[in-house]
Amino acid sequence: MSREKSFEWIKKGYQAFREEYYPNTKEIYRNLAEYGQDPDVLIIACSDSRANPTAIFKALPGEVFVVRNVANIVPPFAPDMKKHGTGAAIEYAVKVLKVKTIIVMGHAGCGGIAAHIDGTGNVKDDKFVGPWIRCLHDIHIPGDVSGKDVYEVTEKANVMQSIKNLKGYDFVASAIAQGQLEVIGSYFDIKSGTLQIGNDEGQFSPLLLP
Ligand SMILES: [Zn+2]
Repeated sequence: MSREKSFEWIKKGYQAFREEYYPNTKEIYRNLAEYGQDPDVLIIACSDSRANPTAIFKALPGEVFVVRNVANIVPPFAPDMKKHGTGAAIEYAVKVLKVKTIIVMGHAGCGGIAAHIDGTGNVKDDKFVGPWIRCLHDIHIPGDVSGKDVYEVTEKANVMQSIKNLKGYDFVASAIAQGQLEVIGSYFDIKSGTLQIGNDEGQFSPLLLP
């Protein structure tokens, strides 16, 4: 797609929003503008265009607070006053919005995970991707995995590591301890459009039966 066509796409999408979506959700927007947001769910997802959490959960405006980054990573708790975008979103969601559920959503074919496994050779003069995905070095991958499986196993292990890191944030841990918050790991398969949920052992099973 050319640059001009890309902007045309933006304009066309916005026009459809104005003509179709907004008229149907006008009251929701008005209420949200007047009373503010009060979402119950924080979704931590990958930036990947194919794993769009608001589409997957059919979320209306105001229903989900979302933070997306490369490879849906929750970095380890590090209150060092540096620029932690993901940590800031988690802190706001838990302390201010008081969300009831945090769902971390990994996905099949994740480029961030592939970069962790294969290197960031396709990112010329890499300044940010490499340092960011270095967070993934904590992931434990069973030694008996090989071939194509290594990507899926690593994608799922990354979700579980993010959950573990999330529980290391003191305010997340205390909200869980008080029974006010639940954290869930999940995995979206792009081809089949299905979502799996991870258990405490890191095993994933479909959220809905076929
Ligand atoms: Zn991804």
